[in-house]
Amino acid sequence: MTLERILSLSVVVGIFIGVVSPVDADSGQPNIVVIYADDHAQHAISAYGSRINQTPNIDRLAAAGMRFNQSFVANSICGPARATLLTGLHSHANGQTSNVARFRDDLPTFAKTLQANGYATAIIGKWHLSTQPNGFDYWALKQGSFYNADFATTEGIEHSIGHVTDTITDRSLKWIRQHKDKPFMVWISHSAAHRTWEPPIRHLNHYADDTIPWPETLFDDYRGKNAGASTAQMRISRDLFPAYDLKLPVTGKGILDRAAQQQLEKLTPEQREAWDAAFGPRNQKFAEMKLAGDELTRWNYQRYIKNYLRNVDGLDDSVGRVQSFLRENSLDKNTIVIYTSDQGFFLGDHGWYDKRWMYEESMRTPLIIDWPGVTRAGSTSESIVQNIDMAPTFLQMAGLDVPDSMQGKSLVPILKGDRLENWRDSVYYHYQMKEPEDRTSHLVAKHYGIRTASHKLIFFYELNSWELYDLENDPGETRNQYSHSGFAPIVADLKNRLAQLRSKYGDTTGDSF
Ligand code: CA
Repeated sequence: MTLERILSLSVVVGIFIGVVSPVDADSGQPNIVVIYADDHAQHAISAYGSRINQTPNIDRLAAAGMRFNQSFVANSICGPARATLLTGLHSHANGQTSNVARFRDDLPTFAKTLQANGYATAIIGKWHLSTQPNGFDYWALKQGSFYNADFATTEGIEHSIGHVTDTITDRSLKWIRQHKDKPFMVWISHSAAHRTWEPPIRHLNHYADDTIPWPETLFDDYRGKNAGASTAQMRISRDLFPAYDLKLPVTGKGILDRAAQQQLEKLTPEQREAWDAAFGPRNQKFAEMKLAGDELTRWNYQRYIKNYLRNVDGLDDSVGRVQSFLRENSLDKNTIVIYTSDQGFFLGDHGWYDKRWMYEESMRTPLIIDWPGVTRAGSTSESIVQNIDMAPTFLQMAGLDVPDSMQGKSLVPILKGDRLENWRDSVYYHYQMKEPEDRTSHLVAKHYGIRTASHKLIFFYELNSWELYDLENDPGETRNQYSHSGFAPIVADLKNRLAQLRSKYGDTTGDSF
């Protein structure tokens, strides 16, 4: 046990010998628990003002710690988001520009540095990089479907029974229990609420009789947007697959019908019984209604969003379990809990599911940090932060140096409530996934851009198409002001700043302008 650790433990136990002393961030190395959701949008968290659901445990975390209201990603897609989390670098700099690109495993990561400095480290759940985990003493990587998933672990393949959000949480708490005598960092990397949105059995009937409010832009006509907006394959109205996505009976023979069938066959008899009891009567009713047009779109939205939100229920349960576990094991005073997601998601906004775009719903990501003794309870930050900031933050939380090569900035001063000068006033974004042109991909045009506190400028370089949004007057991003003469000075200024950001971060990928 390190001296720092003994000192920090003595602070925790100090209360029993009559010494009441707050945990000082500088007195020892805190434990770090990163609860990382997949595709969990800010606007499906009640602490962020959700209109459609309640997340009591995540809200409790926000009430104890700090909520970042201007939290963004650098590239809204699974693999690249994880590479950025690890390295503190934009995608072009860490190699993981798309889900299929090669991650530069030689780079410094927060995990490698924590491990080298005495932390026990683990990742449990979704990995999604082409390389093997590096910097982790233990890993258990989820494979396959949402129910009864297999885990590829440092000790071989392990089977599980249950919903993947629960089994990832079980494994994470078990690992903490085994490693709590030294500083630890565990990355609890959930698969929910990613497609295909199979809910935990206990939540199958939540929202059954409710009508979830529609987003204002469910029937967006994409007027003024780049030509790729209307051809992108992520529409609630036409691109959800009946069996695979909507849990309707398997009738086709396509690749996703077979995948849906295989998912059903993985269920245990008890799970299948509960599944059929929930979806059977609802599917029967749907068949009888013979919906078409906008009515079918509305039904698709309800079916999709309810299963998505049931997965969020499972994530919220996981947060509650972690909080209870830390309390019951007297770890809560010296453990930092972070809740975030790899990116946001379209919840019917612009008529879409999925992510990728630089638009608000997918570029925003939740970020809530509870650092006992440091963050003020229920505080919020309006500083513009990005997922490049996480690795530097985790290192500084542990009292370690942040490599100059990392492009993000530590959020520790913000968490401590320090008055900041020269914090960034904009963030850079670049989506450059190369997608196969088949019906199972999404066909989002490559783009990069700049977001400030008030505006967003996006360049779709393959289409030579620009978009400008006035976020204060048009938060839903429905009016492209790029060609409006009144915005010409703003466009000129933002183009200048965008070029500076590309230069600052060294991004020479994508066409210049
Ligand atoms: Ca994701």
